[in-house]
Amino acid sequence: MQQQNRYISFFIYVLMGYAIMQFFWWTYLIFELNAEIISLQKQIIIFGSDIAEQQKMRLINDLDAVFAKKKLMIAGEGGVFLLILLTGFYLIKRAHNKELALAKQEQNFMLAVTHELNSPLAAIKLNIETLTKRSLPMDKVKMVLGRTYQESERLHFLVNNILAASRMEKKGFELFPELVDLKVQTQLLVDKYQSAVPNEIILTADGDCNAEIDLLGFELIFQNLLENAAKYSDDQIEVSLKGGEGKIICSVADKGIGIPDHEKGKVLAKFYRVGSESTRKSKGTGLGLYLVNNMVKEMKGTLIIKDNVPQGTIFSVTLPN
Ligand code: ADP
Repeated sequence: MQQQNRYISFFIYVLMGYAIMQFFWWTYLIFELNAEIISLQKQIIIFGSDIAEQQKMRLINDLDAVFAKKKLMIAGEGGVFLLILLTGFYLIKRAHNKELALAKQEQNFMLAVTHELNSPLAAIKLNIETLTKRSLPMDKVKMVLGRTYQESERLHFLVNNILAASRMEKKGFELFPELVDLKVQTQLLVDKYQSAVPNEIILTADGDCNAEIDLLGFELIFQNLLENAAKYSDDQIEVSLKGGEGKIICSVADKGIGIPDHEKGKVLAKFYRVGSESTRKSKGTGLGLYLVNNMVKEMKGTLIIKDNVPQGTIFSVTLPN
């Protein structure tokens, strides 16, 4: 595949070089041809016996003026044509580069998904084997079952994300809003998530947080933001809810590695992950923020990514109430 892409790139450059060379060659030929015609016309005038010398000079001067005009016209038209040619090649190359980047991201996604599916499955299998083959005291059994539950939750989260992405792509996400108190719902989600991550999660809520909202959609947004906050920071995660003036602002703030300004717009794209495969330490699929952004849009809300002070990132979701 890579080899094939290299051939295509090479072919595009060869074609581009050939077309440009051809262009200059034909421009040169047209100049030459015009020069020849003018020179022939001049000879006809010079050797024409029935034309007065003074008139000959005038006619030759006219021919020179016509030739100068033609040169200008060829140069102008040629310049425009060259510009169109280069723009065409630039667009072809850009589209090809985009295709390459997407193919690479998809390949990385497949590798990441395989790994992410494999590790919880392997852990679940091992835990079940331990439980069936060994007789453990009750507290150990509970601990192993707890871990198994967390691994199955991870699996569930990943599969949910993949399904949500494919549903979004096909026909958008159908929302079923219901009237809920987001303070209560968020607290439930925080409690559920707290047992799965080492970071301490602190929730603060302020104002009227009753809203008509699709709970599955809200969970998808919230879970992905919490997942990232826990993945990219070792510290406390602050979740805040602020209701009032017809909207609810839900923020997830971490004190982790942060997102550079030039990456903030890019991280919302499907499969996009900051850094390269060789430098990246954390596992992931590049689907999380793509889903968050699309779900926020479906809910007619807005998503803002800001720097936390002194370090980290704040994801702020504003939903209409
Ligand atoms: P991933 O599965 O890689 O986490 P996401 O779509 O959730 O995919 O995020 C895209 C990229 O944005 C991540 O690879 C990471 O580089 C960056 N990112 C997301 N959330 C955070 C965060 N809280 N802190 C730092 N970087 C983040």
